[in-house]
Amino acid sequence: MKVEVLRLGHRIIRDQRVTTHVGLVARAFGANSMIFCGQRDEGVIETINKLVGLWGGGFEARYGGKNWKKIIRDWKEKKGAKVIHLTMYGEPLFEVVNSLRRVFNESDFLVVMGGEKVPKRLYKMADFNVSITNQPHSEIAALAVFLDHLFQGEELKKEFENVKIKVIPSSDKKLIKKKEKT
Ligand code: SAM
Repeated sequence: MKVEVLRLGHRIIRDQRVTTHVGLVARAFGANSMIFCGQRDEGVIETINKLVGLWGGGFEARYGGKNWKKIIRDWKEKKGAKVIHLTMYGEPLFEVVNSLRRVFNESDFLVVMGGEKVPKRLYKMADFNVSITNQPHSEIAALAVFLDHLFQGEELKKEFENVKIKVIPSSDKKLIKKKEKT
């Protein structure tokens, strides 16, 4: 099934790097797409799309507007789709991950993470509120750990399609293979 990531409360300039990194982590760790809400920011979309053009895969990033509630409501109307909110106040990941994986066999996931302040309403709208430790840290780290546990590390072996550039893993040097231009 598919994973879409929803990042709330984006602020131009201040959050550009974090929101871009949420997108890059989402892609690298096996999610299919990302939406961000808050302020419109073409820079984030351009950076992620440019990277996808070079490093491959079908990942898509888009701006979802300011109405995050509508995005979640629309998502929940899709058959079987579930909303997972990553929050330090949620149920510990290690306690819920097995049942989440069973749900994921039949449901697409919208994985939601906050920005500076998370609206209270989100806790009620989510199907699952999940914590990655109950300590405050970061949306980027929370997303990486969540996806890695959901996919049980299999996402680390993922090969991307339509690549223009690729790393050749090496123990002692930096090796990159570029596709010849036709
Ligand atoms: N203080 C904000 C609030 O109102 O909850 C949260 C700010 S935090 C920097 C930004 C986001 O990182 C959170 O909304 C959440 O998605 C994620 N996050 C931070 N710590 C987390 C944790 N321990 N478990 C899961 N997600 C976490």
